[in-house]
Amino acid sequence: MISERVRSLLSYKTETTPARLKLSSNELSIELPDFVKKRIAEEVSKASFNRYPDPEARALKEALALRFGLKEENLLLGNGSDELIYYLSVSIGEFDRGILYPVPTFSMYGISAQMLGRERVEVRLREDFDIDLEESLRIARERKPVLAYFAYPNNPTGNCFSEDSIRALRSERLFTVVDEAYYHYSGKSFIEEALKREDTLVLRTLSKIGMAGLRVGFMVGKEEIIKELNKIRLPFNVTMPSQVIAYLMLTEFYQIIEEEVEKVIRERERLYRELSRMETLQVYPSEANFILFKSLHLPADLLHKRLAEEGVLVRNFSYMIPDCLRVSIGRAWENDLFLETLHKVL
Ligand SMILES: *Cc1c(COP(=O)(O)O)cnc(C)c1O
Repeated sequence: MISERVRSLLSYKTETTPARLKLSSNELSIELPDFVKKRIAEEVSKASFNRYPDPEARALKEALALRFGLKEENLLLGNGSDELIYYLSVSIGEFDRGILYPVPTFSMYGISAQMLGRERVEVRLREDFDIDLEESLRIARERKPVLAYFAYPNNPTGNCFSEDSIRALRSERLFTVVDEAYYHYSGKSFIEEALKREDTLVLRTLSKIGMAGLRVGFMVGKEEIIKELNKIRLPFNVTMPSQVIAYLMLTEFYQIIEEEVEKVIRERERLYRELSRMETLQVYPSEANFILFKSLHLPADLLHKRLAEEGVLVRNFSYMIPDCLRVSIGRAWENDLFLETLHKVL
């Protein structure tokens, strides 16, 4: 009785093999000091989890607004931004109209479209991984999608698309979602436009800044749009422990996060330089907390396997981009160990 829409889906793939070094999911590699852990334990132990959490997650929403210079009425919280992608694919336009996104990109855009039986309007990125504007415009005019997703910076390629190309596509009456999951590593944002325009929304998440396990994402947009989308939100979508812990991290301990993010940005530049020196690799520049690289001699599947055998887990994207692997930026010692293992394996 399972619908063909669902049967034909491929489930979301992620690397779960235990490894000495996990550089496969773009998490922030962070070890919290004991006093922070203690403080968190204290607050979590006070939470009455026999009761439902605050359905509006007011305290957390207020902390997010304060931290990122936004207003609460412009925010909608999700169980990760993944949940918000579902909400958008459900809410924007009728189901007989398609959803456009450049590929290769984050898989949830396609998965959410397919599960709803909506047309997936995929446009190949250019060789330099920027939007092929001419082709995108042509396809948008021909197939008339109503919703577009742009990961900005894009995952797994690491670059930010040209802003003008995003705007030009938006002019084709496309409701435009700019997914800024890696904003903290790029510093580039469409939030100002999302606050002014009816056709633009921004997605953000705490996942890539050290809180992936909490599953907290949020959407930024005009109050009228947020109000409408809030109608389909599941009532208690952000759990009580997540509300408590994210609140603490954003209010009392945010400095720790900021420092770690700064370190990752510095390490990204170092890793990029080191990888670029290797003749058997082609390395792509990144504005995120990961780097995509192509293996020029050893097939990527084999390189991925060899690294895993050495206890180093990176993400294999060769099914999407021939011979490409993606490595998340870790702490300095982790990146050193990754480089050392890579040299050894190659
Ligand atoms: C990681 C990622 C997400 C998922 O974020 P969650 O908040 O953990 O669901 C969304 N978009 C992109 C582009 C990502 O890389």
